[in-house]
Amino acid sequence: MIFQPPLLAKYHGMADDDLASAIADRKHQLGQRLVILGHHYQQDEVIRFADFDGDSLKLAQIGARQDGAEFIVFCGVHFMAESTDILTSDAVKVILPDLSAGCSMADMADIDQLEEVWDLLGGDIIPITYVNSAASIKAFCGAHGGACCTSSNAQQVLKWAFTRGDRILFLPDQHLGRNTAYAMRVPLEDMVVYDPHKPRGGLSRADMLHPAPGKVKVLLWKGHCSVHMLFRKEQCDEIRRIDPEYKVLVHPECSWDVVQDADLAGSTEFIIRTVAESPEGSKWAIGTEVHLVSRLAARFPKKSVRSLAGIQCLCTTMYRIDMRHLLWVLDELAEGRVVNQIKVDPETSRLATVALERMLENAPAQPTAIK
Ligand code: SF4
Repeated sequence: MIFQPPLLAKYHGMADDDLASAIADRKHQLGQRLVILGHHYQQDEVIRFADFDGDSLKLAQIGARQDGAEFIVFCGVHFMAESTDILTSDAVKVILPDLSAGCSMADMADIDQLEEVWDLLGGDIIPITYVNSAASIKAFCGAHGGACCTSSNAQQVLKWAFTRGDRILFLPDQHLGRNTAYAMRVPLEDMVVYDPHKPRGGLSRADMLHPAPGKVKVLLWKGHCSVHMLFRKEQCDEIRRIDPEYKVLVHPECSWDVVQDADLAGSTEFIIRTVAESPEGSKWAIGTEVHLVSRLAARFPKKSVRSLAGIQCLCTTMYRIDMRHLLWVLDELAEGRVVNQIKVDPETSRLATVALERMLENAPAQPTAIK
C-alpha cells in the first residue's frame, strides 16, 4: 500500500454539508478542465459528484475519451487510475484522492512472481490479466502476446486467447478465471491453481509442461477478491428458504460453488441492467459490494433488493476515498498544485496499452452473463 500523508486539520473539522458545498464550488470553478470518474462500489456521498460512473470496463472506455480534460480525479482504486493514465495523453493528469486506496486482489500478483512462473512455463502460454492488476503486470501481458480483461468481457477475451494458443495463464483472480473458463465448457479437471508462494506454484511438472498429460488448459493464479469471497453457498440456500421468490444474482469474482448455485452471474454492469430491466415486485439477493446493492435498493423501491450476505461486504480500500480527500485534491488543483498524480512510466505504459487495447477491442455491446 502507498502511504497517504494525513490531511490538514481543517478538513477534519468540516461538517458533511460544508464539505459537499465546497466540493460543488470547486467543481464549478474548475469547469471543463476537470472530469470526475466514480466506480460503482464508491460510497454515495462521493459518487454523487462523479461526472461518469461505471465498472472497470466502462470507466476505462470513458477515461480513454477524456483527452479534452486537464485533470481526471478517479474515485476508485489505484489500478483503475493507472489504467486511465495509460489510456490518456500526457496532457491529462490523473489523480487518486487517497493513495492508500489500493486493491487487495491486485496486490496478490507482482511482476517478479509473474516472471518466475513465465520462466518455469517456458513462455508457452497466453497470459491474460484481469484489469485489477498493477501496470507492470498489464505491460508484461502486452509484451508477451496476452491481454487484459474485465468481468464484463472475460469470456470474449478468453475466446480471443484460445485462438492464439491452447493454454492460458489467468491472473490474479482465480475465481473469475475459473468461472469464465467453466462457462466456456473448459472442465474443472483442465484447470489448475498456481500458488506464487509455493515452490513451482505447488504444481507437478506434468501440470506445468506443455503438452501436459493432464490436458491442463488454464493455469489460475491463486488470488481473490476479499469482498466477493465473503459470499457463500449456504447464504443462497438460506435466502431461498426464507423466501423462494428471491433470485440470486452474483458477481463472477465469487467462488465457483456460489456462481453455480446462483440464478445469474455477471459483472456489475450486468447486475445493474438485470435489476433495472426486471419487473416491479422482483426480488433480488445480490452478491457484490454493499454500496452498489444499497444504491440499487434505493433506486428501485418497487423491487426487493438486498445483499446476499447478512454481513456488510464492503470494499474497504475503495471506502478510503471520502469527501475530505476529494475536496483536498480539488482545493489543491484550484490553487494550481497537482497532488496524488498517478503516473505510469512511458515504457510500462506503452506495453500495457497493447494489453488494454486488446481488452477494449473485445468489449461486448451489452454486458453479458457468465451464467
Ligand atoms: S471489490 Fe475486490 S477486486 Fe474490487 S477493488 Fe475492492 S478488493 Fe479489489
